[in-house]
Amino acid sequence: MSSPAEVDTDLLIVGAGPVGLYGAYYAGFRGLRTTVIDALPELGGQITAMYPEKLIHDIAGFPAVRGRDLVDGLVAQATPFSPTYLLGETATSLDYDGDQPVLETSTGRTIRCQAVIVTGGIGRFDPRPLPVGNEFAGRGLAYFVPQIADYADLDVLVVGGGDSAVDWATTLLPVSRSITLVHRRERFRAHEHSVIELRESAVRILTSSEVCAVHGNGRVEAVEVVHKPTEVVERIPAQAIVAALGFVADLGPLEQWGLGIKARRIEVATTMATNLPRVYAAGDIVAYPGKVRLIAVGFGEVALAVNNAAVAIDPSLDLFPGHSTQTL
Ligand SMILES: Cc1cc2nc3c(=O)[nH]c(=O)nc-3n(C[C@H](O)[C@H](O)[C@H](O)COP(=O)(O)OP(=O)(O)OC[C@H]3O[C@@H](n4cnc5c(N)ncnc54)[C@H](O)[C@@H]3O)c2cc1C
Repeated sequence: MSSPAEVDTDLLIVGAGPVGLYGAYYAGFRGLRTTVIDALPELGGQITAMYPEKLIHDIAGFPAVRGRDLVDGLVAQATPFSPTYLLGETATSLDYDGDQPVLETSTGRTIRCQAVIVTGGIGRFDPRPLPVGNEFAGRGLAYFVPQIADYADLDVLVVGGGDSAVDWATTLLPVSRSITLVHRRERFRAHEHSVIELRESAVRILTSSEVCAVHGNGRVEAVEVVHKPTEVVERIPAQAIVAALGFVADLGPLEQWGLGIKARRIEVATTMATNLPRVYAAGDIVAYPGKVRLIAVGFGEVALAVNNAAVAIDPSLDLFPGHSTQTL
């Protein structure tokens, strides 16, 4: 069944990162019919895209939680309230019908709502492409690692010198047949402790080197790597390449909505209200004096945003939602 071209909802949350997902729970708790839209094809924002397998140590109540498990938990927490998820779809424009926000999306869908919460993080983020071999994207060349098990018994080439590249090299090592890490500089930018762990591991490290060709019949089979100082080229068997060269992030269409934006962040009041009527924001995307970009902080902000939006939608409601324990 195709999803409807027009959606009518109480609250639209733009961005299904951890903050937007917690917002979906909170909005459900406040009795709002909620729709969550995200440009990415999967839920979880930066966590799912960049570090699903890493342990997060600073989420209240969890001494350590794997990124993927935190996202699963957030989705499960919102599930009793049946939010609608629109994935692989960008919220492109915002207009008003009276005081009701009306949004258009990249698929041509119209979303009518009573209020909007923007939890757009760092905006839409696209991986920096590998300079060669891009035609193998999805056929052995990956920019995200959704499932570690996909790399079982493969010769894997990881490209990059930052935290993600170093972490993927050591994380995939136990399941893979071999890991080669290629970095174009001599020094790694990654956290010192991770680099020590890497150097002590069985990962083969090629520094001052670049991938100059990717070969394969339909899928990646081998990679040529050039050692830049000597120009010696080595052909390395590899069935998988993980290119961890960083991301290009941009707020995209959000910049055209008329929001008060400074240095790519949306300015908000203590109620998380933006300068636009019935539009709130929370999480990495917001700016206010003293803002700290952490998931824990975003959770608090989105709870504020939802409660203030609830009152804007129905002024007879209390700002204080009551305690969740009272509903059990
Ligand atoms: C490697 C790494 C490790 C980290 N470790 C920690 C840690 O240990 N602890 C911690 O607290 N934080 C950590 N962070 C930071 C943390 O991931 C972010 O603070 C968090 O993801 C912010 O959540 P968010 O929901 O605000 O935004 P995001 O996770 O960025 O999600 C925003 C979503 O909005 C979507 N979007 C944007 N614009 C649109 C649009 N117009 N239409 C539709 N969708 C849109 C994007 O596609 C994205 O999915 C880490 C970050 C990285 C990269």
